[in-house]
Parts: sequence; structure tokens; C-alpha cells
Amino acid sequence: MSNPTITFLGAAGTVTGSRFLLQAQGSSVLIDCGMFQGEREVEALNRSLPSIDITNLAAVVLTHAHLDHCGFLPVLIKEGFKGPIYATHYTKELAGLVLRDSAHLQMDDAKYNEEPGLYNLDDVEKTLEKFKDCEFRTSIKINEEFSVTFYPAGHILGSSFIVVDVAGKKLLFTGDMGRSNHPLLAAPDSAPINGIDAVISESTYGDRIHETPVELFAHEINAALKRGGQILIPAFAIDRTEVILMALRELIEKKVIPTIPIYIDSPMAISALNYYREAVRDNVVGIKDGVSQRWANQDPFDAGALFQAFTTEESKRLNENEGPSILISASGMASGGRVVHHLAFMLPEPKNTVILVGFQAYGTRGRQLLEGATRVKIHGDWVNVAAHIANVESFSVHADGDELVDWLKPINKPSHLYLVHGEPESQMTFKTRLVKDLGWDVIVPTSGESFTL
Ligand SMILES: [Zn+2]
Ligand SMILES: [Zn+2]
Repeated sequence: MSNPTITFLGAAGTVTGSRFLLQAQGSSVLIDCGMFQGEREVEALNRSLPSIDITNLAAVVLTHAHLDHCGFLPVLIKEGFKGPIYATHYTKELAGLVLRDSAHLQMDDAKYNEEPGLYNLDDVEKTLEKFKDCEFRTSIKINEEFSVTFYPAGHILGSSFIVVDVAGKKLLFTGDMGRSNHPLLAAPDSAPINGIDAVISESTYGDRIHETPVELFAHEINAALKRGGQILIPAFAIDRTEVILMALRELIEKKVIPTIPIYIDSPMAISALNYYREAVRDNVVGIKDGVSQRWANQDPFDAGALFQAFTTEESKRLNENEGPSILISASGMASGGRVVHHLAFMLPEPKNTVILVGFQAYGTRGRQLLEGATRVKIHGDWVNVAAHIANVESFSVHADGDELVDWLKPINKPSHLYLVHGEPESQMTFKTRLVKDLGWDVIVPTSGESFTL
């Protein structure tokens, strides 16, 4: 019996495009099937198929529903993938929102670019039929070679880290690792400590330590209100919007900021809010202790002035708002979605404020704004950046370097740790730290690289 192999097909030296291929005894399974996002050259990677035998792939296993982990699935289906997609219940539900939204965005983009979209709504529905609901903390047998177990990762609703048993080896995929201070989600389960042969760990914020962001957030909002303009917050529709709304609710309740209208302008975010409300009500695995009772008679996301824009017309009207308001809209890196239209409208006006609250990958408009661009290109036109740009990045729902090390530390030394899902600088800093703190053998794989386990 030969040892299984792992091939890093994406998220190797980048934060997006998570795709890891495991092969053993002629059978193969893909862990995550994400879209590449960011710079033009990175996004171009979505145009080529990974060099794998898609039709003979036994299964795909998903850690969570973010686009950079599930967004490439419909392409796989189009190319003849016939197997099941294993995921937790809420990963399936949220992936439905994410993939439908992605299909819509691609159809929109196709109007501005010559290129056709990668897939349409029809492909998405075919993809969703392949999902198999998986319970947390229960081993699921895929075939003779592969079994998987999902554990709550506290990153977004339904998110998991995964243990894969493959041909006598045990692998631990962190997926995207959450934090212990999420207002609704439970802290990640502890890592299984025995018999792990290899860890495949994310490293998004491996080189950073998050501080408490709420004070900074409040400061930026109050400063923006003084300037008298509107506040725009580009936010990932799934989870970041929930965390921001709960922070705003708390600040309003404590009278740190005044009660001002808060608008959610993202159909996907509005649907995701409902899944979170449902999960809190049902107190499902992965929801923090006590949260269900705390919010039994109240909406955790509404401090009394929450408005949701469903239609494009409602969305457009938001730009005519008089008086102070906060507008939260996706996508989080301002690379697509309704937020782009709001940016085009709001950026030229010096009294407006844009607050960035999440990771901004290289090449995205969010990153350009973060780095002080004086103009950005939107739908082919240059738009001047006169608005105030604030950064409250530590609202992140990713563990930072300290949190990752604390989580990994109890694991009995695996033969290797592979660092993925991070930008090169962050990965190098984090690698040095892991070697020093844990004494493990750390590998930063390059795209397409294979290893025998
Ligand atoms: Zn994620
Ligand atoms: Zn991710």
C-alpha cells in the first residue's frame, strides 16, 4: 500500500482559491473548491481547470461557505463531476446564497467585460443537489480509503475544521479558523491531539495580532458623523455583516454612538441574517452557550433602526439619503456587488466616510482604498477618492497568530504542517514563529506542488 498524497491546487501563497487534492489507492477527494479572487492575474486562474481527473473524483468536502472555498464548485459540475459534496447543514444553506450571488455577479460582469461568466444559476442549482448534510463531530465514511469528521471552527455559521482519515494517515485541515470572541458563534472546538500526521493550516493573519476594535470603530463613526456625510461599510455578506450589526447594536445601546438609521444593502446578507436568526433560535451546534436564551425575544441584529434594501430600486434610493446613516453593503473587498455602485457615488465627496472592516486582498478596490489610492476605476471610469477612508480591520473573523499558535500547540507533533491561505509575507513570518514556538517541520507549498504523506 503506497502512502497517500496531497496536492495544493490553490490558496498556496494566496488567500483565495482553496483547493486541496488528496489521492490514495486510485481514489481522490478534493478538500474545498474555492474561487480565486483579487488581482486580475489571480482571478484569471479561474479560467483554467485544475489538472485533475474531475470525472473520477470521489467527493468534495467543504470546510465552509465563503466563495474562496466553495465558489468553483459549479465549474466542477459543468466539467462532469458526479460525486457528492459533503458539508454541514449551514454550509450547504449559505453556499446556496453565495453561489447564486456569484452567478448573478458574473452575469452582471459579463455586461461590462467581453468574457462570459464561469457559470449561471442553472449550474448552481445542479451543484446544490449534490450536497450531503453532515453532522458535526461524527465520522463519515466516503469510501474504503476516506473518512471525514467536521468540527465547529467558529469562523462563520456552519464552518468547520476537518479531520480526514486516509489510507492509515490522519490529516487536519483548519479551514478558516475562527476566534473565541464571536458574539454568536462558539469558540472553535479544541484540536484532536493524538495521531495527527499532518496539519494543513490557514495563515491569513498569521503575522498579526488583533486588538479590540470596538473603540476604534466607535471613534471612526463619531468622527464621520461630525463631518456630516454618509458612512459606507463594505462588508462580506456572510458573518462580517452579522458581527458589525451586533457591534453597532451594542454601541447604540450603550449610547457611545447615537441611534442613526442602518441600511443593509445586499440581498445575500439579508438572507444570511435569517439563517443566523434561525440557528440562534434553534441553538444548533456551533452557537455559543447562552446566546439562544439571551436573544429569545429580540432580534440580535436590530438596535431599533435597521432597514433592509431588497430591490435594486431600493438600493439606488439609498444614495439619496439625507442626514446621517450607515450603509452596509457587499462585497467586503469592494470587488463586486452593490457596494461598488455606492462607492462610485460616495467616494468623490470629502464629508463621506468609508470604513473598511475586513481583509483586503491584493488587487481589490478595498486594498487600493486602504493603501491611499487617490482614484479608483469603477466600471471603466476613474472615480476620485475624496471621502475619508478608515480601517477597522480587526473585526476579522479569522484567528490571529497568537490564537492559531494556542490552538495548534496541544497537538502531538505531526510530521509536517503545511501553511496555506495567506499572503507570502504573512506566511514567512508565521512559519518562523511556528518553528520557534512549536518546533514543527513547517512547509509553505507552492501552487501545484504535491507531497507524499
Ligand atoms: Zn472564510
Ligand atoms: Zn478563506
